[in-house]
Amino acid sequence: MTGTSWRIGEVAGVEIRVDVSWGLIALLVGYTFFVVLAAEFGATTTGTVVVAAIAMTLAFFASVLIHELAHSLLAKQRGITVRGITLFLFGGATHADLETKEPKDELVIAAVGPLTSFALAGVFWVLAQVPGSDLVAYAAGYLGWINLALAVFNLLPGFPLDGGRIVRSLVWRSRGDIVAATRVAARGGRIVGMVMIGIGVFELFFLGALVGGLWLMAIGWFLSQAATASFTHLQLKTVLDDVPASRLMTRDLVDVPAGITVQRAVDDYFMRHNYNAFPVQGERGDTGLVTMKRVRELPRDRWDSATVDEVMEPLSDMCTVSPSGAAGEVVDKLMKGEVGRVVVVDQGEVVGLITPRDLVRWLERARELGLSEKAMSLS
Ligand SMILES: [Zn+2]
Repeated sequence: MTGTSWRIGEVAGVEIRVDVSWGLIALLVGYTFFVVLAAEFGATTTGTVVVAAIAMTLAFFASVLIHELAHSLLAKQRGITVRGITLFLFGGATHADLETKEPKDELVIAAVGPLTSFALAGVFWVLAQVPGSDLVAYAAGYLGWINLALAVFNLLPGFPLDGGRIVRSLVWRSRGDIVAATRVAARGGRIVGMVMIGIGVFELFFLGALVGGLWLMAIGWFLSQAATASFTHLQLKTVLDDVPASRLMTRDLVDVPAGITVQRAVDDYFMRHNYNAFPVQGERGDTGLVTMKRVRELPRDRWDSATVDEVMEPLSDMCTVSPSGAAGEVVDKLMKGEVGRVVVVDQGEVVGLITPRDLVRWLERARELGLSEKAMSLS
């Protein structure tokens, strides 16, 4: 899930971002808190209840963030690259390069999240015992239960939940095979997801709990999708680790002269060949690509005057790989949508392109021909 997100800050070198979908959950959570508090403290003024609901929403937000920070900081301490934290619709995600490390690292880093939530539940429980305001005590107690629920939910044995990561690290350790371990944990993720959808349907139709039922169904669906996607991603990467980039790439590219206008490039190249990018030998001896995206970005009235040289994207700005480089290397970047294509370069010359479509097509064909034992499906 790479939607639009905003950077809200940085803690100990870990960038924290909030996805737009978090706005929705903040409203929903805040409204739920308001309803709960209003039912309990009906006699209090609405203003007080609103303020308390907002404070509870912020405390909930902080709880999820602290859980994710615990993962991030421990990962960093163990020398694992952490790219940052994104809070989104269903909680938080810590972006770290875990897949390359030891099973023990994954076990510890996964376990610290639920442990942190348990600890937070304890802190809120203590706060709830402090004499004074009934409203504050009630809100703290409620947040304690929520953190307890977060800890238990995250311990469910389905990848990519923390519990699923713990399962994966244990299987990985005992079998020494990360792909097999991920398959087991991802199956767990799909089962947990299906069970949640089932409970959601039951709540919806038999208990009449509309919001709760739909919410469970949405989380269940998301979980099973994420489980399947993370398995496919890892599998693709593992299979392609043994394959040189040159075998996957689209070759026979068509060069576009640097001096022609963008209009001519569109007429004679983009509209004539089935490619979205063409290599260009720049006029200053530099190499690059002219892409659909660059052409689209140029205002239409400039197509007749601008030359290809002016809109070409230099090779130095692009993700490149040598023909003998492992295709597995490029999978991460392509699958995460960080780049739209990887350029295969041999001694400074563009010899091929690899797009996500090339990856998928290659894997499908390998599977159909039975070329790769590892290219088995999840189910
Ligand atoms: Zn976690």
